[in-house]
Amino acid sequence: MNKKVLILDASAFIGKFYFYLPNGKYITVPGVLNEILDEKIKNVIETYIQSQKIEIKSPSTRSIKIVEQVASETGDLPYISETDKQILALALEYKNKGFKTTIISDDYAVQNIAKKLTINFVSLVQKGIRYLISWEIYCPACGKRFPPSYADDICDVCGEKIKRKAVKKKLLRGKENEKFKGINRKSQRT
Ligand SMILES: [Zn+2]
Repeated sequence: MNKKVLILDASAFIGKFYFYLPNGKYITVPGVLNEILDEKIKNVIETYIQSQKIEIKSPSTRSIKIVEQVASETGDLPYISETDKQILALALEYKNKGFKTTIISDDYAVQNIAKKLTINFVSLVQKGIRYLISWEIYCPACGKRFPPSYADDICDVCGEKIKRKAVKKKLLRGKENEKFKGINRKSQRT
């Protein structure tokens, strides 16, 4: 059996990866919607969820613990969000069940941990979909905002765990993009 699953993180949705693989099986985690501020993208995701094109699944606490352990070994733990942990933990569970699992993410820390867990990953940049994304890092309790370089995951004012949201997207069109648009057009005929 060669069952394939694609696990999508917030960067995959912001880069509109779902336009490029219309027949794939997509899975994501509950936290992803919280990381996306763009209402249009949120609506698209919700439509996909309703039509069961995208499934939302939660990993077990046990799998999350494994991911946290590996992330602390690679030094990536301060750089990943709860959602990132869910993405990686879910991918690990599918991989252990024998699925051909690929994470779609442009997040370097996620890719790095995936590598360590021997889970395949693809970035949108590799697919020729180039865009810029920036993260807003903030404290949900006192509202303080932090620069992207802020390495700690605890607010230095009130001690709350800080959160982040993807806030910007800019598609940089190029030859590679044209190629993928062609594939998209073909697949839409079915
Ligand atoms: Zn705070």
